[in-house]
Parts: sequence; structure tokens; C-alpha cells
Amino acid sequence: MKIYEITARDYKTGKPITVKWNNETIVDIKPIDNEDINNIWIAPSLFDLQINGFSGVDFQDISINTESLIKAVNNLRQSCCSKFLLTLITDRWDRLIQKIKRLKELRDSNEILKYSIVGWHIEGPFLSDKIGFCGIHNPSLMIDPMPDYARQLRKILPDDLILLTIAPERKGAIEFIKTATELGIIVSLGHTDAPYETLKAAVDSGARGFTHLGNGCPQLLDRKDNILWRVLNMENIKITLIPDTIHVSPPLFRLIHKVKNEIVYISDAISGAGATPGIYSLGDIKISVDNNGIIWNPTKTGYAGSSLCPIDGILRSMKMLNCEWQKVWERYSELPAAFMDIKHDISKNGNADFVIIKTSNNTPEPVEIVVSGQSKLLNNSEKSFIKTAN
Ligand SMILES: [Zn+2]
Repeated sequence: MKIYEITARDYKTGKPITVKWNNETIVDIKPIDNEDINNIWIAPSLFDLQINGFSGVDFQDISINTESLIKAVNNLRQSCCSKFLLTLITDRWDRLIQKIKRLKELRDSNEILKYSIVGWHIEGPFLSDKIGFCGIHNPSLMIDPMPDYARQLRKILPDDLILLTIAPERKGAIEFIKTATELGIIVSLGHTDAPYETLKAAVDSGARGFTHLGNGCPQLLDRKDNILWRVLNMENIKITLIPDTIHVSPPLFRLIHKVKNEIVYISDAISGAGATPGIYSLGDIKISVDNNGIIWNPTKTGYAGSSLCPIDGILRSMKMLNCEWQKVWERYSELPAAFMDIKHDISKNGNADFVIIKTSNNTPEPVEIVVSGQSKLLNNSEKSFIKTAN
């Protein structure tokens, strides 16, 4: 069996290491003395908890096929993202179940899809139907959660990661969160205007996150008491943020990082992400992507997902925080995986799933991605840094 190796600096420690793998598994990691690799780094691939579509492919489309899913997955890999939760937004419950079943069937019958679509993020229909809080989701389709819905999800997705975003002020939500948590479904709060006590009861019942803080709420908020202040003032809640400079303004982005330590980045990408400006679909909704990459709802009064490519989330967040890329990388790789209770780092017996990054003036340039042991060059780079080991 062939063994491959790469020598590069570990993105966390800055120390040179040699990583060896065969097939898809890392078999050895050793620290070494090598000053020639000053600007070559290794970091786990990006892991995104919220992708609704990518590069012209809309995951909400009921007639989606294997080819388009593979196209989206391959283009996400080009953007350094090897694993993600395929995200479905609010729909009629029976239609949503139908979509999940079909997508799971497609995913299960293809190795590339099986590797990259590691689970599902179901965002809706248990959300607030209040204008502004419902965002782009159709408020007339919102329903109250009942424990049976959680059981049904677990039944059709017996072994998969499931993330569910819900508004805890909906009738029965607290009971639902307890059942979902018992079933191993991870609950995040979002698209909600719940009072502080209800948010706290939800967290005490097992909810662990808050989905895209700063979004899923109206443009104008009460300055004395609003969903942002309530969440920022809460303990034991992890925050997901869209680091595109559009969904969360740079000052608010910096402020949230001062107040919260458990932060995870997501793209909330839709079909227009990684594609050219124009008109795209998000299920039945037509949305437009403008020249600045802003995705507008049909009335142009709010955003509808983002056009962010995962690697750009790293570049933009490091600029907003004025820090090195190594400081933000974890929030878009290891931490989102940890959010779902799985490991996604560079470790012995772990997956050979990482990005090789060249830096100049501390600007990261990904040159190669290794997914499941297989290497692909990125950004027109011509030379692979991988060798066959002796
Ligand atoms: Zn949302």
C-alpha cells in the first residue's frame, strides 16, 4: 500500500511536522527540524454547518440529481471546504421529509457525496413567523414543533448528523428540544424573538447554539431589549456567524468576538455562491445576487442567504479582526465539527483531510487540498508538495 507524506507547519503550533497517510487515514505525525518550509502550512479542511446550495446548484430543488450535487461538492472543495451539512429551509413538513429522503438516497449512493455531505441542517419550519424574524422563510408555513417530528427525522436519518434550528417561543418547543437532544439531534436557536427566560429554558433543555447571530431578525431593533443583547448576555451558548462583512458589520463582528469565545463560522451559502451575479433559486423563491455579492430577497428589503465561498470567510474574518489567518481557521474547521460532536483535526488515525497553504506577508494562499487521502491542486498551482513516503 502506498504511503504519502507532506512536511509543513502545523497551523496551530507553527512547528514543522511530517504527516503520513495511506488511503484516507493519517498513519503518522512527527515533529521535525526543517527551516526550508517557512511559508508552507497544513490545516484541516473547512467544515460548514450551513450550505443551502453552491455554484448554481440549489439543494432545495426537488428535482436535484447526483451530477449537480457532485458539482457543488467539488466546487466547495476548491474553496477548501471538504465537509458540510446540507441545509434545507422552511417548507411544508411532508415536502421537507420527501426532499430529505430523496437527497439521502442520492448521497448514500455516491462515494464523493457520502464523504462530504456529513449531515443535515434543517432550518425551519419551527421558526418565528414575525416579519423580519422569519427572514426569507415563508411565514405561512411555520408550525409548532412536536416530539414526533424529531422522532420522524431520526427515523429517516438513523446514523446522520442532524442540526435543527428552531425558535424556542413556539408552543411545545422546550419539550421538543428535550426529545430531540435525547435522539442525538443538535438544536440551535434562531429566527427567534424569544424573551431571555425562554432562550435560557431552551439552553437548559439541551439547545447548544444560536444560528447566524445578527441575522434572522428585523433591520431595526429596540435599543433597550432585543435578540442580540439577550443572546450576547447568555451563558453556555455557541454562536454561528456569517463572516462575509455583509451579514454582520465589521464593528459588530469584532464586538461579538470580544464578548463570546465560542464562535463558529458558517457561509449560509445559497446557489448563487461561487457563481456569477444574476438571478438564482432558493426553493420556490427567486433571489438576485448583485455585483457586490449581496443576495437580496425579491422585495430587496433584506438578505436571503449569502454568496460567500468558505475560503473567503477566512480572508474576510482575519481582515475584520485584524489578526493572522491561523487564529480564525479553527472557527471554520475544527470548531464547527466539535459543535456536532465530531473530530475534524490533523491527528493520527484521523482522516487525511487537510489543506496545504502557502503564505506571503501572512496572506494565506491555499495551494492543495487532500480529501479522503486524494490530493487536488488549487488556485492554478502547478506543483504538489506531497511525496511518496519511503
Ligand atoms: Zn436563516
